[in-house]
Amino acid sequence: MRLPIYLDYNATTPVDKRVLEAMLPWFSEQFGNAASRTHLYGWTAEEAVAKARKQVASLIHCQSKEIVFTSGATESNNLAIKGLFEKYYPQKKHIVTVQTEHTATLDACQHLEKWGAAVTYLLPQPDGIVSAQQVADALRPDTLLVSVMLANNEIGVLLPLQQIARLAHQKGVFVHTDATQAVGKIAVDVAELDVDLLSFSAHKMYGPKGVGALYVRAGVGMMPQMDGGGHERGRRSGTLNVPGIVGLGEACAVAQRELQTEYKNLESLRNYLENSILAQIAETFVNGNQNVRLPHVTNICFEGLDGENLLLGLKDLAVSTGSACTSASVLPSHVLKALQLSDAQAHASLRFSLGRFTTLSEIEYAISHLLEVVEKTKNNQVGYVPNDFLQ
Ligand SMILES: *Cc1c(COP(=O)(O)O)cnc(C)c1O
Repeated sequence: MRLPIYLDYNATTPVDKRVLEAMLPWFSEQFGNAASRTHLYGWTAEEAVAKARKQVASLIHCQSKEIVFTSGATESNNLAIKGLFEKYYPQKKHIVTVQTEHTATLDACQHLEKWGAAVTYLLPQPDGIVSAQQVADALRPDTLLVSVMLANNEIGVLLPLQQIARLAHQKGVFVHTDATQAVGKIAVDVAELDVDLLSFSAHKMYGPKGVGALYVRAGVGMMPQMDGGGHERGRRSGTLNVPGIVGLGEACAVAQRELQTEYKNLESLRNYLENSILAQIAETFVNGNQNVRLPHVTNICFEGLDGENLLLGLKDLAVSTGSACTSASVLPSHVLKALQLSDAQAHASLRFSLGRFTTLSEIEYAISHLLEVVEKTKNNQVGYVPNDFLQ
C-alpha cells in the first residue's frame, strides 16, 4: 500500500494509464499543429482533435461544434462569465451566483463588478443546497446570467440545475454551470439540464492538467477573452494542446464506459468510510446534504478538535481540511462558512474524496489510522472538553 493514502481526488486525479497511452504519440511523433491546413502533419493533428471533440461531446450529450477546448475549468468559468458579460453589457449587467462556488467563478464575478456588473451572491441553505426558488427570487429585469455549480467540490452536494435553468430561461436569462466535479462521475446531459454553458476540466477526471472544455450551446454568442488566430471558431485563440485534448477525449471515453460501475464502487467505499467514522468517533457530523451528492466525497467535522493538530497527526492520509491557506493566514473555508459552521468547526473539518484507484484495504487502513490519531489528538489537546462531560 502506498502511503500516504491519497484521498484527495477532488483536488486532482492521477492520469489513467489508458489516457497516458493515448496521449503519448501526440508529443513528438505526431507533433503537428492542428491549425496547419497545408500538410499531413496538420491534418493528422486536426483529425485527432476532431475525434477527441466527439468523445467529449458524447459524454455530455452535445454536438462537437459546441465544445470549446480551454486550459481548464478556471479558464472555462472565466470565458463563460466574462465572455457573456462583455457581449451583453450594458443592456444586461446582473449576475446571480452562489457563495459556495469555486473561487474561479466568484473571483470572475468580483472582477466584473469593477466593470459595472451587479452580482448577487446567494447564501445556500445550511445543507449547501440552493433552491430554484431562491435563484428565481433573485432575478431582475437586467439579469444576464445565472452561474451555479452542478456539484460542490468541498462537500459534494448536487444543486438542482434543471429546475434552476427552467426558471431562469422563463425570464430569458442564460445559465452557466461549473460541472468540474460532476462530469465523468455522474451522468451529465446538457440537454436534460438545459444549460447554455458548462465548464469542466481533464485533471479532475483522470486526464492531464492544463486542459479543459467549455460547452457553449449552439447560438449562444460571447466575446472571446483571448485574441489571436481565431481558433475554436473564434471563441478561444491559441494553438491547440493536441496531446492534452487527446487525453481529455480518452478520459471522457473511459468515464462513459465505466461510470455506472465506478459510481457504485465509490459510493459503497465512501459510505463505509463515513459510517465507520460517524459510528466510532464521538462528536462527528457530515457537512452538507447527505442525500443529494456525489458518490465519492464526504466532508466530516470532528467537533472540538484542533484541525491543525489533527492534520499533523494524520501523516498517512492525503486529505484536505476546511481551511484555506492564503499567503498571510489560514482562513476557514468559504464553503463551510456559508453552511453556517463556526471558524473552529470549519478548521476541524476534513474532506475525504475517493477515486478510481481507491481500494477497500486503503479505506480500512484510513479508518484505523483516523481512530488512533483522533484519540491521540484528544489526549494531547489542551483545553479539549468532550461534550458529554459538559452535560
Ligand atoms: C478544480 C476545480 C476548478 C478549477 O479547475 P482547473 O482545471 O484546475 O482550473 C473549478 N471548479 C471546480 C468545481 C473545481 O473543482
